[in-house]
Amino acid sequence: MHANPAHSAPMIARVEPLTRTRAVRGPFDYRLRPDQADVGVGTVLRIPFGRQTTLGVVLELASDSELAFERLAEPNAILPPGVPPDLVALAGWIAEQYCSTPARALSLVLPPPGAGRRRPALQATLTEAGAAALLGAGRLTDRQRELLWRLHSDGPAPAAALGTAALRRLQERGLVELSPLAPGGRPITPAVGRRLEGLPALTAEQRRALEAILGALGPAPPAAGRFLLHGVTGSGKTEVYLQAVQATLAAGRGAIVLVPEIALTPQTVGRFQARFGDVVAVLHSGLGRHERHEEWLRLRHGEARVCVGPRSAVFAPLADIGLIVVDEEHDPSYKHEGDPRYDARSVALRRARQHGAVLLAGSATPRPESVVALTQLHLPHRIDGRPLPPVEVLDMRGLHHPLHPRTRMALADVRADGAKAIVLLNRRGWSNFLSCRGCGRVWMCPNCEVALVLHGAQGFLSCHHCGHRRRAATRCEHCGSVAVARHGSGTESVEQELREAFGRELPVFRLDADAAAGRGRLAETLSRFESAPAGVLLGTQMVAKGHDFADVALGVVLDADQTLRFPDFRAEERTFALVTQLAGRVGRGQAAGKVLVQALAPEARSITLAARHDADAFLAQELKRRQVLGYPPYGSLIRVVCSSPDAAEADAMAARLHGLIARSGGIVLGPAPLFRLRGRSRSQLVIKCRDRLAMVRAVGVAVEQCATDAARRSVSVSVDPDPQ
Ligand code: ADP
Ligand code: ZN
Ligand code: ZN
Repeated sequence: MHANPAHSAPMIARVEPLTRTRAVRGPFDYRLRPDQADVGVGTVLRIPFGRQTTLGVVLELASDSELAFERLAEPNAILPPGVPPDLVALAGWIAEQYCSTPARALSLVLPPPGAGRRRPALQATLTEAGAAALLGAGRLTDRQRELLWRLHSDGPAPAAALGTAALRRLQERGLVELSPLAPGGRPITPAVGRRLEGLPALTAEQRRALEAILGALGPAPPAAGRFLLHGVTGSGKTEVYLQAVQATLAAGRGAIVLVPEIALTPQTVGRFQARFGDVVAVLHSGLGRHERHEEWLRLRHGEARVCVGPRSAVFAPLADIGLIVVDEEHDPSYKHEGDPRYDARSVALRRARQHGAVLLAGSATPRPESVVALTQLHLPHRIDGRPLPPVEVLDMRGLHHPLHPRTRMALADVRADGAKAIVLLNRRGWSNFLSCRGCGRVWMCPNCEVALVLHGAQGFLSCHHCGHRRRAATRCEHCGSVAVARHGSGTESVEQELREAFGRELPVFRLDADAAAGRGRLAETLSRFESAPAGVLLGTQMVAKGHDFADVALGVVLDADQTLRFPDFRAEERTFALVTQLAGRVGRGQAAGKVLVQALAPEARSITLAARHDADAFLAQELKRRQVLGYPPYGSLIRVVCSSPDAAEADAMAARLHGLIARSGGIVLGPAPLFRLRGRSRSQLVIKCRDRLAMVRAVGVAVEQCATDAARRSVSVSVDPDPQ
């Protein structure tokens, strides 16, 4: 050990280089110069690394190293702002829990790239002299009069939005005042009064839930502070979140509010902004580079103390978190599908524990995992006192039309009443697949073992897994037959169907990934539907997210049991949630509503229980089933997928891993082939175990042991310790 004798203070930084390669594992030691004394845990450095330079994050400071001090390299530069130390620790936890690397986990918590230094922005305010001038006492050009008028009617505004040069001339005459803008680029609005006025008085049920939450906001044992707000749709869950956030702010702490997807939940986000004003930072993928950086800094500096955003907002750089809300906690978007395959709901729990914060998850269709792990608070009634809409299940066996006769009648009633309906079909495109009537051949994706989906009436075929596209065939390349059969229906053909059947009096608003190619389009379609007097909102599961539209008289789920036809242990849960969530959009406001559910297996448990709005019975049965099978939350599953252009290599690697992993206990199922994806054959292992972390470690060791060989055989191995 060689300590630097001249300094007793730590002068060595243990740095994790941010590289994507799994083979490189830090941390590595760097020596700090005396002028780098403010380097600490989380500081981002540019470091020499091998023959290159790379970014690195300081994990630890030390006073000695295994290497001679003189032989250590010095960082090239310090790159502020750094990562808050609690997020460095969180990244370490994620790397371990999700079988990833520290570098990849750290990339989740890095500050977003900045666009240089913060520019001081200006806010324009009308002065008294300006107001007098506006009333006729001063000489003004039309343009100046318009500027003053806008400041008069809208209040203070960012100078950049109105034209800084023109405002400067008005400032010289004393008619306008220019002052530094609130950080983040928004005008400082006098929001104090607005916050407390007009808060709805809570119902007794809401009050009871809120009191339980507030009781835990103080210095309570962490286990007491994890809640599941299980409330039917429209029961006022969001109002409980809002008031819990308010109490958190009043206690001088910050809050994170996770929502499924901003573009689909503009109403929820809007309610937080309206209530708390500039204290809210919203992180979403629609933000530009500069805005994202600014929002991050506002949170880091404590200027914003509430962060609303999708799963990545769980990494918001708040100093002192008192509350983490997970809205619609059943939503699959909380799971990240790239490496690290983290689940924001588990990360939220961990982060809440780090900060001594309360965790508050909410849903009308909570996950069995949450029911077991969290303290349930119930909101069994809708706010407006209306019953949940009656649900009728329609048997589609033997019917060949996508719409059941009763569905057609109900839609005709909606048209006659000038009302609104929502129709859900969780399948985009025109037809599921095409086949040749001559030889029976199905048009398949050349890269994946799946059928191509027809889009547009005559348009093109597309693979929903790899994005492969080709023109739709009119003749079979195999046998030459021109008889091409279309099978099944998607949102596009149902749209056509509805237009033909109901004409212009019932306009159709389609909402799916194709119709809403841009993010703005999504929100636009939702608001067009909202402001239309009548119409049908038709789309994939997007239409069932937490929208709060008044006056939807009819909800329809087409092919509700399609999810049940996939071999997935969460299939029932998903189906139940889909039907329940759609029913939740119906019959709010003045209109009474009803729901029709079309299914090929109308007696399926998830459908009959959703039709009775019986979430408790569904959860009880689901938990029993999972206990018998050893599925979460009674055991853990870990999924290992080996993929390769060569099927035999993928299989061989999976078999080898099976051998290695089986030795460390746990039940290993497989190798089982998965369908070919993006030109790669895949072979899967599923490991069932009780001690999740021990098994993740054992799998990690086995994968590492095979890493070199796998690379040589071009097999890639992915591990998902929390498969969905
Ligand atoms: P959820 O989140 O459970 O679907 P919301 O919080 O969106 O329910 O509440 C549904 C509607 O009821 C909203 O329009 C909301 O503003 C309103 N609301 C909520 N709580 C109250 C209350 N205590 N009094 C009156 N209206 C309320
Ligand atoms: Zn053919
Ligand atoms: Zn494909």
